[in-house]
Amino acid sequence: MSLKRTLRRWFRYETKRHEALVGGQVVPDQARCVQCGICSYHCPIGIDVRRHAWLGEPVAESYCLTCGECVARCPRGVLRFERSNLMAS
Ligand code: SF4
Ligand code: SF4
Repeated sequence: MSLKRTLRRWFRYETKRHEALVGGQVVPDQARCVQCGICSYHCPIGIDVRRHAWLGEPVAESYCLTCGECVARCPRGVLRFERSNLMAS
């Protein structure tokens, strides 16, 4: 892979990550969750993401790192980042 392409991909990844960090929260699609708990198991700060999925509620804890581990690990594609409206005018 060329350096230019690598840099472009990295920049795209960082832009997405930055967007998630500034205004995103993890949102579950409740109907798809099978309650396996893999998301909670991999959360580095111990947020019970599985419970959020069970209740169909976004991960609203202010200490969520928006690291994306839970989103990436869910085998059912239940979790996604969504921009929260907290910063919207
Ligand atoms: S990893 Fe996905 S399917 Fe499993 S409990 Fe978490 S949200 Fe539900
Ligand atoms: S984004 Fe990271 S810190 Fe936030 S709930 Fe998911 S795994 Fe935990």
